[in-house]
Amino acid sequence: MTITGGCVCGNVNYKIEGKLRDARSCHCSRCRKTFSSQASAYAEVAPEEFEWVSGGDLLTTYETGEGFGLQFCGQCGSTLCGTYHGEVHGITLGCVDGDPEVEIGMHIFVGSKAAWEVIPDNVIQFQEGPPT
Ligand SMILES: [Zn+2]
Ligand SMILES: [Zn+2]
Repeated sequence: MTITGGCVCGNVNYKIEGKLRDARSCHCSRCRKTFSSQASAYAEVAPEEFEWVSGGDLLTTYETGEGFGLQFCGQCGSTLCGTYHGEVHGITLGCVDGDPEVEIGMHIFVGSKAAWEVIPDNVIQFQEGPPT
């Protein structure tokens, strides 16, 4: 399938020829700040299936350490993807258009969620990372 996505100002757009995998939401304090939200929501993507369609020159990269980074639209600030050694390996679900045919399969690091967040009982949740 073809999945498309982009930032809120509309200048940066991407497409994925393939499937998203391992959609999840992390409630740790770093993800909350990264996503400016109660949690992150992201999915894995194969780097070779991902392509910037427009606005690639507007991207700003924030290195988070050990080869990992995050890329934002330099104009509007939407967080679009996660990178590993410069390759896109995950995308933020909030910037995906329409239905990418994945659902969040688990909520992780629920033990460090914000005091003000209420998580429904009927979702799969782990106090820390997922079991390996
Ligand atoms: Zn933008
Ligand atoms: Zn996290």
